[in-house]
Amino acid sequence: MRHQLARRRFLPAIAIAGLAAAGVGAQAQRPRIPPTGTIKKVSDNLYVIPGAGGNTTVFVTQDGVVLVDTKLPNNGEAILNQVRTVTDKPVSMIVNTHSHPDHIGSNEYFPASVDVVAHENTRKWMAANPRVASNPAAMPDRTFADRMTLGSGDDRIDLYYFGAGHTDGDALIVFPARRAMAAGDIFAWKMAPLIDPMAGGSVLALPDTLEKALNGVPNVDTVIEGHGDVNSWEGFRDYVQFNRALVDAAKAGLGQKTAEEIAAGLRQKFPVFTKEELLTDMEYGGTPLSRAVINVNVAFRELGKR
Ligand SMILES: [Zn+2]
Repeated sequence: MRHQLARRRFLPAIAIAGLAAAGVGAQAQRPRIPPTGTIKKVSDNLYVIPGAGGNTTVFVTQDGVVLVDTKLPNNGEAILNQVRTVTDKPVSMIVNTHSHPDHIGSNEYFPASVDVVAHENTRKWMAANPRVASNPAAMPDRTFADRMTLGSGDDRIDLYYFGAGHTDGDALIVFPARRAMAAGDIFAWKMAPLIDPMAGGSVLALPDTLEKALNGVPNVDTVIEGHGDVNSWEGFRDYVQFNRALVDAAKAGLGQKTAEEIAAGLRQKFPVFTKEELLTDMEYGGTPLSRAVINVNVAFRELGKR
């Protein structure tokens, strides 16, 4: 176990620069990122901590606390302080849903003895980032390709991977005893997801990936979004249908309609995902409708490269 202060220096600043590559910076007002929030109970032994980047899911097992994602850098202590309000057990494992700095940023706060688990492509992107790769405590110790099961009985966690979407390493983290799933940023803020082509993301692959998840993940009622709220399986199903409709409409409208017209055409059937209000604590700016327009344009670009 290394000296914590020394280790924390490796990830000094808020680093959402990677997201700008995907077009977010262009449409965002200056991000107003809220601090680590108050832990909320989702169900027995399962909690979520909002703020300071992505949601952190907290799963209290017999052997210790499993964290799904660790927010932006320098939030480890704040995460641990929230965990301490519900259990005295040590943090025993970190699972990362994907490689973005607002989800892996505080991995390095936790001792190197804490196992970090992620999809193999997520490890690849983390290894390609010198600031992350130079700190072994931040890096995944174990990876998976399609499926992985951790623990057993009430403590069981199933990891699933169904293909590219937000990145090409988006893991879905399922807690079978709680009938709950942490979705990461392939489902966040009730809007079309950011697509990060620099990390293998693809809007054309997204509906296939989401439909495989919808059909391949059993017995889930509660879905913890990567940012924002806790949703339901029905909410997730609507979202999958929305992303399929968006890509279908982009394909049909390519060369004939503008992205704005195509997104507007989705409003009647999918009002939730095409709202024009700016959401509260919306770190990266933009409304759901503006994100839908962006994703139609991303689809145009991907279709043009075929
Ligand atoms: Zn992300």
